[in-house]
Amino acid sequence: MATKKLLSVENLTLLAIVGGVGFGYFFHQASLDLKVIGDIYLKLLKMLIIPLVVASIYIAITSLSGKEELKSIGIKAFAYYLSTTALAVLLGLVLFSIINPGAGEHLLAAPSVTIAKKELSISDFLLSFIPANIFDALAKGAILPIIFFTIFFAVGSLFIQEHKRSVLYNFFDSINDAMMILAKWIINLTPIGVFFLIAATVAKHGLEPIVSLYSYVLTVLAALAIHAVVTLPAIGYFFGRFNPYRYFLAIKEAPLIAFSTASSSATLPVSLEVAEEKGGVSKKVAGFVLPLGATINMDGTALYESIAVMFIANISGVELSLAQQITIFLTVTFASIGAAGIPGAGLVMMTMVLDSVGLPVESIALIITVDRFLDMFRTAVNNWGDLLGAKLIDRLLTR
Ligand code: ASP
Repeated sequence: MATKKLLSVENLTLLAIVGGVGFGYFFHQASLDLKVIGDIYLKLLKMLIIPLVVASIYIAITSLSGKEELKSIGIKAFAYYLSTTALAVLLGLVLFSIINPGAGEHLLAAPSVTIAKKELSISDFLLSFIPANIFDALAKGAILPIIFFTIFFAVGSLFIQEHKRSVLYNFFDSINDAMMILAKWIINLTPIGVFFLIAATVAKHGLEPIVSLYSYVLTVLAALAIHAVVTLPAIGYFFGRFNPYRYFLAIKEAPLIAFSTASSSATLPVSLEVAEEKGGVSKKVAGFVLPLGATINMDGTALYESIAVMFIANISGVELSLAQQITIFLTVTFASIGAAGIPGAGLVMMTMVLDSVGLPVESIALIITVDRFLDMFRTAVNNWGDLLGAKLIDRLLTR
């Protein structure tokens, strides 16, 4: 029994992370050659995302006891997503002004790289939510439009006759159950997948840039740590009256996988599994809060972006006014909602934030070297934020 616990997937995954760093550092070529093993694991997880998102949101909404409950869960989820994201950005901005990394280090012009610029247009942003053709969105894996359609579809189903709704409900419930079984099988491969993913990341990016940008890296890591260890648990404790640390220990496998894959979306199958089976979150709350959260609730990304843009301003010798800092606050919040749950998405959205305060988009090149490293940490925090929200809303509904 004790050995079984010691050899649990969580512990083996932790070991795989440490081992992967060492392997990637000492065996560059082998790590790059064997990356395919990590990619297979990642693809297996990704394969489940769309059926799981559609099925879990559909059954979550249609299993609510009425429109009142739907309204209540929806309002709570959005209030949670927005307030924790805003707190994260604020923490990033405050911590930045205390530590002030990069002050006085006027680095020379950024190395030239071509980066596609993401334009900031509220109308495009809103339009991108609505799929003109749901099958096209499904084929392309465009998660936000898929979620938008599924919510509408499920709410519409609440208005059809009960016996017809139950046909649809049973259909999606069966898909969901079958996907969760696949998820369980794939989760058993986590230690192997994670080992090779981490090894390839270390082999490809190396650890050296982290040393040269240490003040920036440390500021981001400190802010992420405060948000994960203090802010989020405090919200869980005061509003949900549960022990957030005990809950974290129960569900820690999901943030570990988020860390290793740097993808909130790829972690979704695992998040649903652990929240329901180990974290005691009801299926209807997990099915609503987690898929939505994996796509739009990204505290870690928001926090990282606020620090990154201030750092770029600092090393470019640009002083940001209060009005510009407020602009950063708003654009970063939207950018984190719009960022996809995939590796490096936060960096792409950074172009929009830089543009909003008139900083050159090319200056991203200054921080690109450490992005993958920071991506792992911010994705783990994104995921932890989603899981804490699921537990909190579950508690609020059942009290
Ligand atoms: N990799 C992050 C995620 O999937 C997004 C980001 O790049 O910040 O949550």
